[in-house]
Amino acid sequence: MAGRVSLIPLVCFKCETAVPAQPDETAWVCARCGQGLLLDEEKGLAALSVQYSAALPPGATGRPFWVAQGTATTIRKTYGSRNESAESARMWATPRRFFIPAFTCPLETITSLGPALLQRPPVLEPGPAAPFQPVTLHPCDLNAVAEYIILSIEAGRKDNLKEIQIQLQLSEPALWVLP
Ligand SMILES: [Zn+2]
Repeated sequence: MAGRVSLIPLVCFKCETAVPAQPDETAWVCARCGQGLLLDEEKGLAALSVQYSAALPPGATGRPFWVAQGTATTIRKTYGSRNESAESARMWATPRRFFIPAFTCPLETITSLGPALLQRPPVLEPGPAAPFQPVTLHPCDLNAVAEYIILSIEAGRKDNLKEIQIQLQLSEPALWVLP
């Protein structure tokens, strides 16, 4: 056995029901007691609060998003004279709510959905529990994805962005299941 990787089955810390975890998944809801569970490299499973949007149609499978408040400072360099740095700074100095896809999706989905949800945030009203797509993005990877969302928005300004530095502060995320 020495040197072998052994898989330890995950069980809910509240009711000890086995969690049918797939290797790429990182968070679950216990099928028996409804406890939200987040994989933590040191502690095993940690408690996770999972919220379900009231906008989910009955019977639908929702999509999980990490929702966190963020502010950022941006330093932009542009080609040419037009420069929207002041507008950029103003935008990110205001706390923004980031919706970061927690499910597996192509990069194009992140760069289209992320900015769209940031600029027109859906109302977060809690509703009844519902099934949702597997959660494959761990909260420790949120900053990188959120910076990508900022980059997508900044690249869309009409001043020929050449280079940008982003310093982002994100709050503790919550997991929301949205339509
Ligand atoms: Zn349980």
